[in-house]
Amino acid sequence: MQLRWQSSQQNNYGTPAISLSHGKGALVWDVDGKEYLDFLGGIATNILGHAHPRIVSAITEQAHELGHVSNLYSHPRSIELAEKLISLTGQSSARVFFCNSGAEANEAALKLSRLTGRSKIVSTLGSFHGRTIGSLSLTGQVTKQKPFRPLLKKIKFIPFNDIAAAKRAISKKVAMVIVEPIQGENGVVVPDLGYLKALRELTTKNGALLVLDCVQTGMGRTGEWFGYESEGIVPDVITLAKGLGGGLPLGAMIAIGDAANLFEPGSHGSTFGGNPIACASALAAISILENESLLERNKKLELTLKLELSKSPLVESVRGAGLLLGIVLKLDVAKKLVIELQNAGVLANATSDSLIRIAPPLVVTDKQVADFVRIFREVAATHER
Ligand code: PLP
Repeated sequence: MQLRWQSSQQNNYGTPAISLSHGKGALVWDVDGKEYLDFLGGIATNILGHAHPRIVSAITEQAHELGHVSNLYSHPRSIELAEKLISLTGQSSARVFFCNSGAEANEAALKLSRLTGRSKIVSTLGSFHGRTIGSLSLTGQVTKQKPFRPLLKKIKFIPFNDIAAAKRAISKKVAMVIVEPIQGENGVVVPDLGYLKALRELTTKNGALLVLDCVQTGMGRTGEWFGYESEGIVPDVITLAKGLGGGLPLGAMIAIGDAANLFEPGSHGSTFGGNPIACASALAAISILENESLLERNKKLELTLKLELSKSPLVESVRGAGLLLGIVLKLDVAKKLVIELQNAGVLANATSDSLIRIAPPLVVTDKQVADFVRIFREVAATHER
């Protein structure tokens, strides 16, 4: 498999160590039949795990009816999904633009912000907003940006969770401020309560759009629909992808209030955006999340995981919200530990030498959570000397 990968695909990911063939819930199997507990969930994407029967039937039924239409025509699933997302925001003025990925959702937000007549942007250091030239320009990570310079100009990066820096940077010339409610790729970095509220106040005062990139935190992952609700604020723009499509490629840029009227016919578009099959999958996913009260359960699992994982002497702390957690290690062994976990049948990922990120599907069972904790502690114990 590895040789075939190398001779058929570009080397932008490095060669994956294992090749997965199928899954069920929070379990996946590789092509050799080895079983893994999937505690990464396609990097916070398989919100309902693998092969959920209701998602499979929603996709199948939709494929039998209508697989794709151009944006010259509407279709019921995208209208139903847009209406559902509007109701989840609680803002009747919200309007949705569908695309296929997180980078595209942030590109759409970037274009929307240009229509304010301003072009300055404020983003945060350590942030991740995607890999296209526009979304990479918004991404506050030098290593990812450097080989692709020149990028978009007039983007100011301020330290995350620093209200004083935000005060200095946000002026009446700023078109938008983009921020993740929790910095996922940067190692599940959680800002203090009040940070997003302060950004809301500063952007409102200066007439700038507040764009919340909820690509990783959205769709129930943090125990809330979007991951900013506990701040009691209303952003101008929410971007979504990852968990939105229930495992299928789907992104959305939701604009609220005046921002919802900035795009006009011809402003923006996407051939596949809002594809009927992806929308059907998203609708099924949202209905399962609601009917099975998975967001509430998510909060309980967060507490269990934080408590149980912190008992490992290797663990400094566990941060994050819901089922987006960062396990901070006392030693720089995260990358090694991830390989050892994989050998022991658990998938997780290291965002740095000392941080392991977990984002299991919300349908993970209590027993699977207990199994993860046990295996993690066993593997961690070999590093505790
Ligand atoms: N924004 C955030 C917060 C993300 O975590 C990611 C992906 O990890 C993206 C944007 C980019 O999403 P995509 O890979 O779907 O383009």
